[in-house]
Amino acid sequence: MASSTANPANHLPYFFGNITREDAEEYLMQGGASDGLYLLRQSRNYLGGFALSLAHGRKVHHYTIERELSGSYAIAGGKSHASPAELIKYHSEEADGLICLLRKPFNRPPGVEPKTGPFEDLKENLIREYVKQTWNLQGHALEQAIISQKPQLEKLIATTAHEKMPWFHGRISREESEHRILIGSRNNGKFLIRERDSNGSYALCLLNDGKVLHYRIDRDKTGKLSIPDGKRFDTLWQLVEHYSYKPDGLLRVLTTPCPQLGSENDNIGFNTYPSASGTFPKLQSTIGHPSEEAPFNPYVLQRKRGPTEAERGDQREALPMDTEVYESPYADPDEIKPKNVTLDRKLLTLEEGELGSGNFGTVKKGFYRMKKGAKPVAVKILKNESNDPAIKDELLREANVMQQLDNPYIVRMIGICEAEAWMLVMEMAELGPLNRFLQKNRHVTEKNITELVHQVSMGMKYLEENNFVHRDLAARNVLLVTQHYAKISDFGLSKALSADENYYKAQSHGKWPVKWYAPECMNFYKFSSKSDVWSFGVLMWEAFSYGQKPYKGMKGGEVAQMIERGERMERPEVCPTEVYSLMKLCWTYNVDDRPGFAAVELRLRNYYYDISH
Ligand code: AMP
Repeated sequence: MASSTANPANHLPYFFGNITREDAEEYLMQGGASDGLYLLRQSRNYLGGFALSLAHGRKVHHYTIERELSGSYAIAGGKSHASPAELIKYHSEEADGLICLLRKPFNRPPGVEPKTGPFEDLKENLIREYVKQTWNLQGHALEQAIISQKPQLEKLIATTAHEKMPWFHGRISREESEHRILIGSRNNGKFLIRERDSNGSYALCLLNDGKVLHYRIDRDKTGKLSIPDGKRFDTLWQLVEHYSYKPDGLLRVLTTPCPQLGSENDNIGFNTYPSASGTFPKLQSTIGHPSEEAPFNPYVLQRKRGPTEAERGDQREALPMDTEVYESPYADPDEIKPKNVTLDRKLLTLEEGELGSGNFGTVKKGFYRMKKGAKPVAVKILKNESNDPAIKDELLREANVMQQLDNPYIVRMIGICEAEAWMLVMEMAELGPLNRFLQKNRHVTEKNITELVHQVSMGMKYLEENNFVHRDLAARNVLLVTQHYAKISDFGLSKALSADENYYKAQSHGKWPVKWYAPECMNFYKFSSKSDVWSFGVLMWEAFSYGQKPYKGMKGGEVAQMIERGERMERPEVCPTEVYSLMKLCWTYNVDDRPGFAAVELRLRNYYYDISH
């Protein structure tokens, strides 16, 4: 599995990734160590931070580049820059505290890629295992959860991963920690970390020549962890990684994690999980059978110890996977999918009041009784008095499309019910249409909007992969389950494409949402995933305009003329330039030059990860 979090330095030829300070010095020496020769590497103690190694006077100087809360980068106490590359550019003109100007980059030799640290790989695996076990997901649902929620999951992992580590023993006394370390093998460097109090203070207990040393680990005002006068770290696992490779003030390096009592027979859960390449490595069971000189293996994890703070869900916003509608109710093997999806009216109860309405009839809230309890549903009810068979046909066509789709970012159909009226029973998205939600909630942040439109792009990528065209993609047809969970709805105009065509040709012009339609829809009645991409551009414009109407005050024909003239809507006031350039890309006139959803989703994903750090 590729690490998909965009590292803002990966593209720089002088970025070496997670190499040690010593490796950096060796590289610069190899490169002649002329004054001003430099390279960039990943910080091993600050999440998302970097280190700059700079040669001067045959010595190598190292500077930490911190990632600030605002998302910018600065050498401690120095000027802030938007990216590591800009910081480098600045310091090639101004020394501003550095020993000398950055004169010449030392580039990676051919074939050398930026190195990913063991914890980078570990993080990927932890996220995967965490999602698998916390939400009991697998396959596609698991992948989609990781992609859409990566920033949130990384944060959860950063703050809770140590709880899954074999060396973390939780809240035990000093005496108990000594007792545990002295049981079994007594190899130098055997260690554990215990919690001292609930203010985030810990102790590192380390075996040295038969004696247990205790180092306090305190948290400073900014939340960073360190042993007295030691290097500061964002997380316990970075601290452990650092002291596993050099003593740096400790009496010796950390070697073997002290196994937990009782874990021999009971190490279920986090003790196995896939490696970065997606295969299950044969794990060294340090927990069960501690070997004398077993090297520290970060892949050996602790059994799961009941829900963590994050898992309890009381400290964080609900993720899509926490909701009832992330997976299809029919994903449950105990739930039998009704044949031809007709539902039993007796199992459906309808509530008073309407969620919405249209010329077809109304949408009401209801409950559908399933094996695991009553499921809240939205029910599209056809007007009884409507004698227009076209309306019923449209509903059945919509049901037929929805029946074939199963994706977390698409409203699923539970089934169809013919009783006092024709009813389409769907998953409930309580917060309603995106445009209306944003009109009423101007406090929603840019990042939140990016998260939502990214989810829509994931749903659309799924449709594209499965050869469906939506044909009515607009903010009004994106429904919110929560403020952080969007689903595409309204498949009334959707079409499944035939195997030999990648577009659908309409016979005639209908009642079309022309402001959302690409030129080829208007001119040639041709609809494809690429024309959905055009609509998606308009949808993004609506979202970043907080639900304003696109092409305000203009008639459909005027919009078409404007597009033909090569003009496009302007950037909404709060819209980031990156998103606006993607919008304009979605509004590429020529279909063949327009990106598909695979590319659009990836661009949004990377941008979303970037702003989420
Ligand atoms: P539609 O004709 O499908 O756009 O539905 C009309 C309105 O009903 C929408 O704008 C929503 O306000 C509401 N609605 C439709 N489907 C749902 C759903 N699955 N969950 C919640 N509200 C819905």
